[in-house]
Amino acid sequence: MSEIDTSNLDFIRTIVAKDLAAGKNDGRLVTRFPPEPNGYLHIGHAKSICLNFGLAQEYDQGVCHMRFDDTNPEKEEVEYTEAIMTDVKWLGFDWGDNLFYASDYFDQLYDHAVQLIKMGKAYVCSLSAEEMRAYRGTMKEPGKNSPFRDRGVEENLTLFEGMKNGEFSDGEHLLRAKIDMASPNFNMRDPAIYRIRKVSHHRTGDTWCIYPMYDFTHCLSDAMEKITHSLCTLEFADHRPLYDWVLDTLQTPCHPQQIEFARLNLNFTVMSKRKLMQLVNGGLVNGWDDPRMLTISGLRRRGYTPASIRNFCTEIGLAKRESRIDMGVLENAIRHDLNDIAPRRQGVLNPLKVVITNYPEEMEEELEIANHPKNPDMGTRMIPFSQEIYIDRDDFMEEPVKKFFRLAPGREVRLRAAYFITCNEVIKDAQGEIVELHCSYDPASRGGSSPDGRKVKGTLHWVSARHALDAEVRLYDRLFNKENPEDDPDVDFKENLNSDSLKILTNCKLEPSLVEATPGDHFQFERVGFFCLDSKEGTPANPVFNRTVTLRDTWAKLARK
Ligand code: ATP
Ligand code: MG
Repeated sequence: MSEIDTSNLDFIRTIVAKDLAAGKNDGRLVTRFPPEPNGYLHIGHAKSICLNFGLAQEYDQGVCHMRFDDTNPEKEEVEYTEAIMTDVKWLGFDWGDNLFYASDYFDQLYDHAVQLIKMGKAYVCSLSAEEMRAYRGTMKEPGKNSPFRDRGVEENLTLFEGMKNGEFSDGEHLLRAKIDMASPNFNMRDPAIYRIRKVSHHRTGDTWCIYPMYDFTHCLSDAMEKITHSLCTLEFADHRPLYDWVLDTLQTPCHPQQIEFARLNLNFTVMSKRKLMQLVNGGLVNGWDDPRMLTISGLRRRGYTPASIRNFCTEIGLAKRESRIDMGVLENAIRHDLNDIAPRRQGVLNPLKVVITNYPEEMEEELEIANHPKNPDMGTRMIPFSQEIYIDRDDFMEEPVKKFFRLAPGREVRLRAAYFITCNEVIKDAQGEIVELHCSYDPASRGGSSPDGRKVKGTLHWVSARHALDAEVRLYDRLFNKENPEDDPDVDFKENLNSDSLKILTNCKLEPSLVEATPGDHFQFERVGFFCLDSKEGTPANPVFNRTVTLRDTWAKLARK
């Protein structure tokens, strides 16, 4: 065997490369992504998806299974199953024919449980939940054997069959593996492997009223599918002895290798479906795909691209120790992608009217403007110009402070791709609020270039008032105002929601070409940020644009101050 170079590989890819080079598993590589369909996928799942599907893509023989871990009847819904498949595909991955459901294995799992009983390795326990807890022991003290631990095989078989046939009520009995009540690892203290739940299952209906537990189901599903590398997050490290115990005891022909990696934790968010569900059900966000949610569907609606999420997952890498990743890393990934691919447009979020007094009222012209400053292949477009335009309120200061190079009384600036204008008069209402500016333009500066070499320091974006498309723009900020919203066990994480996470601007003025945008299209509104047309709300005459990300990391700047 020739030595393989693993110097550029993370620890999991190193293991896989070595296994393949050594001809382990007959040279096969089979991974799986095993979500529980009890909610929508989030950015943490994307890390696992990119790892499992990504690894399979990296090798000709690689395969990744999509498996729904649907053993928990009451929590699972068809809606979630479909949403999960949509999200995985959207991220750019394909399971081909390899779509599986743990519930398809209920017969085999039942048979395996019977097999364990026959081997004297499982028993029906009739302790109440409360008694179970008392018998379980503590970190310092071993547990006590259940008085039912030594039930005979026949009695166990009869009782287990009775459980299956619905003869008992929920909680009356439990099937437990007979391992070691004195084990320092709680998972090995005779863990439950089957429980009674008289609840319909969304796929198996009322066929079953007993359901296998996760630890029993997962390893056997992996083995039945001949998974080679079962990749999971660190909290399952303590479950690995049980994973191995089940497969060793049952002597399954295939024994996948479980390998744990650190889960993704992101600052300023929570990352568990259970908690995200609380936000959805409590009406604290507008559904699972609220653009502030770090769900895959929320990120998509916000304007994240699949490539940006995949790149983010590559960038954060794989480690064996937990850490928290700064939200700025995710934001940089999308900024980077959109900077290359998003066409530029003119959009004024906070309009201030400018009347160009020496421009004929009835005149209109079309001016050419580049779709991307660095990519001529993206071409140019024409935008209309007329006597009245909008600029952003922030681009004017009546008494300009130092280093403010934009418009001010008596000052000349460039309107991007249009003309040089000079501010001559500030018009105010009775309250002293600025209502419009009166400016004059230099016809010789058409296209925005200097007619005589004179310089202006500011270049502003603008939209012709008569032609503007009225739009609503939604600005999003972090959903929580605390780096780790879950750090205080005495405070509900929902107390740490950022009340300013959504700002709705209703009077925005956009260049008219944006009327042709289709949902999900990405744009950079020049000098403002990256935006995408919302897929759910708005009308063609009054579209809604979501701000995907600002042009620069304003939080990082604040932090430096
Ligand atoms: P949640 O608490 O959000 O429900 P989970 O682990 O219970 O997460 P599953 O549906 O069981 O959700 O997860 C499917 C796969 O995604 C598992 O292999 C799990 O380890 C992985 N996963 C879940 N959250 C993360 C995360 N934050 N980082 C990396 N992988 C994750
Ligand atoms: Mg889970």
